[in-house]
Amino acid sequence: MKALVVEPGRAGSARIEDVPSTVSASEVPVRVLEVGVCGTDREIAAGHFGVAPDGEDLLVLGHEALGIVERDGLGFSRGDLVSATVRRSCGRCLACAEGAPDSCLSGAYSERGITRLHGYACELVGEDPAQLVPIPKALGRLGVLAEPTSICARALRHARAIGGRQPWQLQQALVVGAGAIGTLVTFLLRLDGVDVVTTSLEGSRPVVEESGARYVPKSGPLADLGRFDLVVECAGDAQLMADSLGLLRRSGVACLLGIDGREQTVSLDGRTIGLDAVLENRVLFGSVNAQRQDWIAGVDALDRIRRSWPGALEQLIGARVPLDRFEDALAYGGGKAALVLSD
Ligand code: BGC
Repeated sequence: MKALVVEPGRAGSARIEDVPSTVSASEVPVRVLEVGVCGTDREIAAGHFGVAPDGEDLLVLGHEALGIVERDGLGFSRGDLVSATVRRSCGRCLACAEGAPDSCLSGAYSERGITRLHGYACELVGEDPAQLVPIPKALGRLGVLAEPTSICARALRHARAIGGRQPWQLQQALVVGAGAIGTLVTFLLRLDGVDVVTTSLEGSRPVVEESGARYVPKSGPLADLGRFDLVVECAGDAQLMADSLGLLRRSGVACLLGIDGREQTVSLDGRTIGLDAVLENRVLFGSVNAQRQDWIAGVDALDRIRRSWPGALEQLIGARVPLDRFEDALAYGGGKAALVLSD
């Protein structure tokens, strides 16, 4: 069957190849409908990231899956729409033993389409039923947003837990970045009635405004936007990540969701960390991946977003291209791009 593969570590090695299709008796056969493409896929395609399964040279890409179950069995019915978790247990740490591989303590986890496990950018996959996440029929193809939404749901669950360790009210939030993650974080916060300002460098992204968020194109320093109970950095810019600590109100929480692997030195007024962060009980934390409860919460939220702001999620998916046009999806810069494997 056709699959999008890379040779991890080799820039420009992404290509379509024929790979064997294997579904074991303990797995649910899933026909892949669409696979979303994100910054991590672009990093892997550029040779910066990604590990092939043990003993293999190629890695099948794709970790944002939407598929349809092919056969009744193992708790699923033919025709069920599903997505699937990305990160799998390392098998030896406390967090993984407790069903929280998103907090894996050994770092020896594997991730489908990223690290040591093949991904979903192929026609048919076999999946452990425990890792499948049901997608309501009403969401249809929007289910391809389940994975990025789970990432946002996890980040906000942690932000609330951290902020909530002391009396704190999440009233005003700043979301930095208006790509898929920034937009989805904005929507999740708006579902909870939080007052949200979303800013990005990329010019106007009116789709966030459909949810009642205020969109401000970034022109000057973020400090001009005021102070917030929560700042979520989704732009993947280490300087903005450092800046976010200075944008917090008392007891504020800054959550880092973007990735910036550039070798660089960022600057921060020493008083922001040495004085304000201490005297005002501020916190800066990073968040990666998601566990099952975040997937369930994320899928539920997606359906509420669909009903609350009709058409907004459709606008977020800016490009849908067939598998053999994967280069267009990797090059796409506006919102979410998806590879279509089956109609
Ligand atoms: C994925 C996460 C994954 C992370 C690090 C992100 O793009 O959404 O599931 O844990 O990359 O590999």
